[in-house]
Amino acid sequence: MDNQLLERYAQIVGADVIDQLQQLAKPLKGAHIVHINSTRHGGGVAEILHSLVPLMRALGLDVTWEVISGGEAFFHVTKSMHNALQGFPIPINQADLKVYEESNAQEAERLHDTLKEADFVFVHDPQPAPLLRLTPDRQGKWIWRCHIDLSRPYRPVWRYLRDLVVEYNASIFSMPDFSQPLPHLQYIIPPSIDPLTEKNRELSPEEIGEVLDRFDLNEDLPMVLQVSRFDRFKDPLGVIRAARLARKFALFQLVLAGGGASDDPEGETVLREVQSAAAGDPHIHVLFLPPDAHRDINALQRAADVVLQKSLKEGFGLTVTEALWKGKPVIGGAVGGIKIQVVNHHTGFLVHTPEGAALCIRYLLFYKEKRKEMGRKAQLFVRENFLITRHLRDYLSLMLALKMGVHERIELETWTG
Ligand code: UDP
Repeated sequence: MDNQLLERYAQIVGADVIDQLQQLAKPLKGAHIVHINSTRHGGGVAEILHSLVPLMRALGLDVTWEVISGGEAFFHVTKSMHNALQGFPIPINQADLKVYEESNAQEAERLHDTLKEADFVFVHDPQPAPLLRLTPDRQGKWIWRCHIDLSRPYRPVWRYLRDLVVEYNASIFSMPDFSQPLPHLQYIIPPSIDPLTEKNRELSPEEIGEVLDRFDLNEDLPMVLQVSRFDRFKDPLGVIRAARLARKFALFQLVLAGGGASDDPEGETVLREVQSAAAGDPHIHVLFLPPDAHRDINALQRAADVVLQKSLKEGFGLTVTEALWKGKPVIGGAVGGIKIQVVNHHTGFLVHTPEGAALCIRYLLFYKEKRKEMGRKAQLFVRENFLITRHLRDYLSLMLALKMGVHERIELETWTG
C-alpha cells in the first residue's frame, strides 16, 4: 500500500475519506480490475485514469490499465461514431463498421488472457465496446463507462452500439441527462478532478505572479476569466459582450485563455473573431495557450476574482470544477454539467444571456465578502462532490454491489468475501 500517496490525499480530503476508501477496497483485495480505453494521453478519460489507477493501487488493489490500439481508419470511424452519438446525423456504413469490429477483434485476441480472467472490466466509451462480445469465455463483471452525452444520439448509430452494450452487467453515465434506457443496472457517476496535479495543486504567490507577468496582466486590477477552447459553444463573444456591459459599472480586466485552435480550422476562425472583437481594448486579454499549459491555467484560475463559463452547450465542463476548487464563484451558462456544479446563488450564478452574466459580474466584483463566501462554499462543494476520491468511492461501491449482488445495502463489516 502506498501510504505516502494516500497521506497526500488525506491532507486534502480528510483522513476519514481515505479510511472509507480503504474499507471499501478491503473486500476487493485480490480481485483483478482492468480499465480499457483507447488513448494513454489526451482527453479527459486518460487524464482521470492517470490519477485513478495509481490511487487504486495505493489502496492495495490489483489494477491494470490497457489501451486498445487501432489504425487511422479505426479512429476515423470511432470519431464519426462519437459525433453521431452526441447528436450529429452521421451514418456509419458497413465498411466502417467492419474496420471497427476487426480492430476490436485483434485487440480482443491480444488481450484475451487478461480479459478472460479479470474480475471487473471497465470499458470506457464506445471505442472498445465490442470487446465484451469478443470475450465469450469471460468470467468477471463488465461495466460500460460512457463519458459522452448520449441524451440525443443519432438513432441508427446508437441502435448499433446499444446492441453491443446491453450485454454488460452495468453501465455508468456522468449525468442523468446523458443516459439512455438499458436493461441492466445504470449508475450516475460524474467526473472529477485530481487536486494533486499541476492543473490543481496549490501555487505560491510567486508562481502566480510569474505567470501574470509573463502574460502582461495587471496584478492590481480585478480579473474576470474564462478558460476554454476557442469554440462557439463556449460563447467567447458573449463573454466579451457581458464584460463590456459590466465595465460600465466596474473596472476590471477580462482574460480569455485557451488553445487547441491550431489543429481545428473552426477553432482558428473563432479565435480570429474573438481577437477582432477584443482588438484595441487594453482590458481584454486573449491568451492562446499550448496544450500543456496546466500550470498557467492553474495560476490564472487562482489569480481570477470571478470565473465565467458561459457555454451555450456543454458536456460536464471540467473548467468549472477547476475554478470552484480554487475558491472562485463561477458564472456559468445554464447547460449540461454546469447545472450540477453551479448551485445558483451559492457556488455561483447560472445565466442565460450576456446581460445576465454582466449583472452577475457587477454583483460579484462589488460585493467582495459575498464573493469570498461563495468561493468558500464552492471549494467545499467540490471537495464533497467532484474530487477523484469521490469518483473512486463510487467505483468501489459499484464493484461491491455487483460482486455481492445486493443493491440496497452493503455490510462491509460482516462480509467475508
Ligand atoms: N484546457 C486546457 N487548455 C486549454 C483549454 C482547456 O488544458 O486551452 C483544459 C481545461 O483546464 C479542462 C479541459 O481542458 O481541464 C476542458 O474540459 P471541459 O470539460 O471544460 O471542456 P471541453 O474542452 O472538454 O469541452
